Amino acid sequence: MLSLKKHYENGNGIRVSTLGHYVDVGGLQLWIDVLNATLEHDLAPVSGIDYLFLTLCGTLSNAGISGQTFLYGPQISNVLEMDVVTGNGDFLTCYKDSNSELFYAVLGGLGQFGIITRARIVLTKAPKRVKWVRMLYSDFSIFSRDQEHLISIKGLEFLEGSLIMDYSPANNWRFSFFTPYNESQISPLLKKHGILYYLDMVKYYEDEAINSVNKEVEKLPEELNYIPGFAFMKDPNYVDFPNRVQTGEITLKLKGLWDVPHPWLNLFVPKSHIMDFNDGVFVDTIHRQKITKGPILVYPTTKIKWDDRMFAVTPNEDIFYCVRLLHSSSFDDWQYLDNQNNAILEFCNRAGIKMKQYLPHYKSKEDWIKHFGSKWNTFKERKAQFDPRKILSSEQKNFNSV
Ligand SMILES: Cc1cc2nc3c(=O)[nH]c(=O)nc-3n(C[C@H](O)[C@H](O)[C@H](O)COP(=O)(O)OP(=O)(O)OC[C@H]3O[C@@H](n4cnc5c(N)ncnc54)[C@H](O)[C@@H]3O)c2cc1C
Repeated sequence: MLSLKKHYENGNGIRVSTLGHYVDVGGLQLWIDVLNATLEHDLAPVSGIDYLFLTLCGTLSNAGISGQTFLYGPQISNVLEMDVVTGNGDFLTCYKDSNSELFYAVLGGLGQFGIITRARIVLTKAPKRVKWVRMLYSDFSIFSRDQEHLISIKGLEFLEGSLIMDYSPANNWRFSFFTPYNESQISPLLKKHGILYYLDMVKYYEDEAINSVNKEVEKLPEELNYIPGFAFMKDPNYVDFPNRVQTGEITLKLKGLWDVPHPWLNLFVPKSHIMDFNDGVFVDTIHRQKITKGPILVYPTTKIKWDDRMFAVTPNEDIFYCVRLLHSSSFDDWQYLDNQNNAILEFCNRAGIKMKQYLPHYKSKEDWIKHFGSKWNTFKERKAQFDPRKILSSEQKNFNSV
């Protein structure tokens, strides 16, 4: 993708339209550079991801999810148009009303139909500040009920959630939110319960709105049932929030712990089965076997902002949970985490949990057919239409026999 650089006049391939509230981005660009370029105009992409040192087109080929997805949809729902080189060698501009089959195929299309060389992304006014509140729970049903309540009310811009286990520190590498004093408060609770859950809710605001925001945020916990006394607040500048994971990355790189195997498992779990998932996976598999090597995220999102014409696949329920097991390992001990991931998938099958993999990875054609479900036939047709010789993203070998 780097060879595209010379084709952009300003060298960086990022052009912000302040009038249109959009940004045109070259396919090679990283989200961090997009954010920095748009912030110069007090604008920002509406829908983000948690880690910004990823290419725009890498995430658009999947979905691009974070705690903002419930409000604005995944990143693929916030693309206005794209330039794409198809597997046939055609260079096409596509949007909803022109070359729409290509537009919907490429977004969430796992790189199977074309190379995106430019995408036009929706922007919004960048806020100045962020109220970030973290609340602790010992009961998963109360935790998930509060999370679902928060995504149903107006006013929040971001909601995620995580697990803490009694055998690992309360902070993980992604962000040191808890102070050492907070950690000492949490420690006895962890000993008592074994697992705690926390939600992160975020509200954006302008400097002059500080008083009203404080009142609003102070009122919110009245509706929630977190463990009394265990709500923690931060108030960073907006610019420090979207890129909050970078400090953790730098620390891991310094320790030589970044470029290591990452046996991740990312799942979309339907709301109707999230309690079974907690019991069978978080409690009975991960906590019981004491196998965690990284952050575990769990937060609800809504299906309404996903466009079913795209190939990103979600469960068939209005609300589903993003469950993200973000493990790291050393080069010689990844296998047990892989085994655990497989055991989790098997558990879901046995328990009838109709989850979908995000960042899917399958070895057999049958599994891909199951994954895409009713979208499979269209997937096959688009592959024949745009990449008949199957030259794109051929590392996903399973598609060779499509
Ligand atoms: C540390 C880390 C944190 C992450 N956090 C998140 C997160 O918060 N939210 C989230 O949704 N995802 C997250 N991801 C997953 C991420 O969305 C995917 O791994 C994505 O593929 C990464 O993009 P990349 O820049 O690494 O792409 P690459 O590894 O370069 O590409 C991945 C695939 O995308 C396709 N592709 C890449 N470029 C193009 C193009 N120009 N045109 C067409 N297809 C293309 C190809 O199929 C390619 O094989 C994270 C990944 C990492 C490593």
